[in-house]
Amino acid sequence: MIIDVKSIVSNRKEILKDKINNLRNNGIKPKLAVILASFDEASKIYVSKKKNMCEELNIDEVEYVFNETVTQEEILQLIDKLNNDNNVDGILVQLPLYSHLNEKEILNSVDVNKDVDGFHPLNLGKLITNENGIISCTPKGIMNILKELNINFTGLNAVVVGRSVIVGKPIAHLLLNEGCTVTICHSKTKDLSLYTKNADILVVAVGVPHLIKEDMVNDNCVVIDVGINRVDGKIVGDVDTINVEKKVKHITPVPGGVGLTTILSLLENLVQIASLRSNK
Ligand code: NAP
Repeated sequence: MIIDVKSIVSNRKEILKDKINNLRNNGIKPKLAVILASFDEASKIYVSKKKNMCEELNIDEVEYVFNETVTQEEILQLIDKLNNDNNVDGILVQLPLYSHLNEKEILNSVDVNKDVDGFHPLNLGKLITNENGIISCTPKGIMNILKELNINFTGLNAVVVGRSVIVGKPIAHLLLNEGCTVTICHSKTKDLSLYTKNADILVVAVGVPHLIKEDMVNDNCVVIDVGINRVDGKIVGDVDTINVEKKVKHITPVPGGVGLTTILSLLENLVQIASLRSNK
């Protein structure tokens, strides 16, 4: 069965709207600062989608757009200013950056408490130690989808295909924290289907169109397809959805799946940070 991610997102949006209204009634206006220093067209589209959702949810958003002459120092100075601005709750550095910029240094300079993307090593560390921190957006969205299915995670076999720092590794730890037995597969894994066939939960974040076929899954599996691939002008996932859907228990669609939850998770993180202002 295809998971209705649109409904999940729309319900969570309503909850978030209430939280934002409550904060605003208490004089707190959640504010997101976005830094865009890239030629990447997809990044520009993501930033405009984020802007639209901010408008919809009544979140203040400010964008800093740089051309290719920008220096590392200029970006670090801006981040320092935003780190010290009490009216800014979250700082988002849209990746990839221009190739002459040092991405790691820039990401690590964001105040860990304003790291709305959850990419700072300290937030990633908190995820591993299972402490309260800011959870990176795509993994957070995936967990929200799985929780909507009322899954009892304890003892389930979770298989994550892909070991990136933004998706594969954090989602593997979140599933581990929930009591799953987790296997992480990657490009060097021998006989991928040996693992995927045994999965109760299968998360695929690879970037290879239709990598996962019907004969690689069991019929009780919940499949989360994170992949976003452009093939012949169409967006497709990492799973051969048409054939796999017939077999498995649940599967997320592409498009209209995990991608929808990612931006919402970002704004949920922002509101989580802004809520802390009311405790100060
Ligand atoms: P990434 O950094 O390129 O990582 C891809 C991972 O897949 C790597 O760990 C790689 O293994 C593994 N891999 C590659 N080919 C494989 C194969 N044939 N078999 C098994 N594993 C293989 O990618 P990412 O940033 O995690 O993104 C993955 C996909 O998710 C992309 O399509 C991206 O566009 C999409 N995405 C979607 C969202 C969303 O909101 N829906 C968010 C982020 C990413 P090695 O480590 O061995 O190289």
